[in-house]
Amino acid sequence: MTRIAIVSALYEELRALLPLLQSPHIERRGGRDYHLGELDGRAVVLVLSGIGKVAAASTATVLLDTLDARAVLLTGVAGGLGAEVCVGDAVIAQTLLQHDMDASPLFPRYEVPLTGRSHFAADARLCEALAEACTQVLKAPPAALARMGLGPPRQHAGLVLSGDRFVATAVHSDALRAALPEALAVEMEGAAVAQVCSDFGRPFAVLRTISDRADDTAHLDFNRFVNEVAAELSRDIVRATLARL
Ligand code: SAH
Repeated sequence: MTRIAIVSALYEELRALLPLLQSPHIERRGGRDYHLGELDGRAVVLVLSGIGKVAAASTATVLLDTLDARAVLLTGVAGGLGAEVCVGDAVIAQTLLQHDMDASPLFPRYEVPLTGRSHFAADARLCEALAEACTQVLKAPPAALARMGLGPPRQHAGLVLSGDRFVATAVHSDALRAALPEALAVEMEGAAVAQVCSDFGRPFAVLRTISDRADDTAHLDFNRFVNEVAAELSRDIVRATLARL
């Protein structure tokens, strides 16, 4: 059976999916609960990765090696970096890069040593399904967006940066933009999952809803956005994506 892994970085996102899981059964490995079962008739495994690259990488390894997941879909929130990328928007990562990887001068800046690569590409077919699902779901976005004074959400696809730092100052986000101008968003897990999936030769995709602009207001917007918007958006986009696979 082809089991698809759905990885949430934040508990609120997992909590929105769990009630939908049919025939649930938990496998506990490495301190995490892997919820196996069926979602809308598809075999899935739902798991909370926790925050940061190591947590995401160890979760992905168990999913692919021990639980034999055939593909990984990571959802979460992220800080917007691209000029057009606003709070409430959805970003599909076509490529991912670890912005805090720096083994220079031994290896070029951002390159993962001994892989010859800095950019890891998501699976084209999964990205296409995600993009179609986003378009469908964003037509009727969560009502909380308007209550928070946000405009109609848009969707973007391109480069997403990951690193073990919550980017919450304009100084830091300006530096990331200057170094990597094509980056759309910054988060803390995606590129780690990408590297592990690449090692295992399994497809993956990453969806992020933008919770903040990775600047000095980031901490103010963050909790409210996750609670009121992100969990619902990622749940609905995951379901619409699974329906297309
Ligand atoms: N306040 C939260 C912690 C959030 S950590 C808590 O107490 O649980 C940040 C999470 O959101 C990570 O999963 C990361 O991937 C994502 N994220 C959102 N905005 C981000 C930003 N500006 N910089 C880095 N990661 C961000």
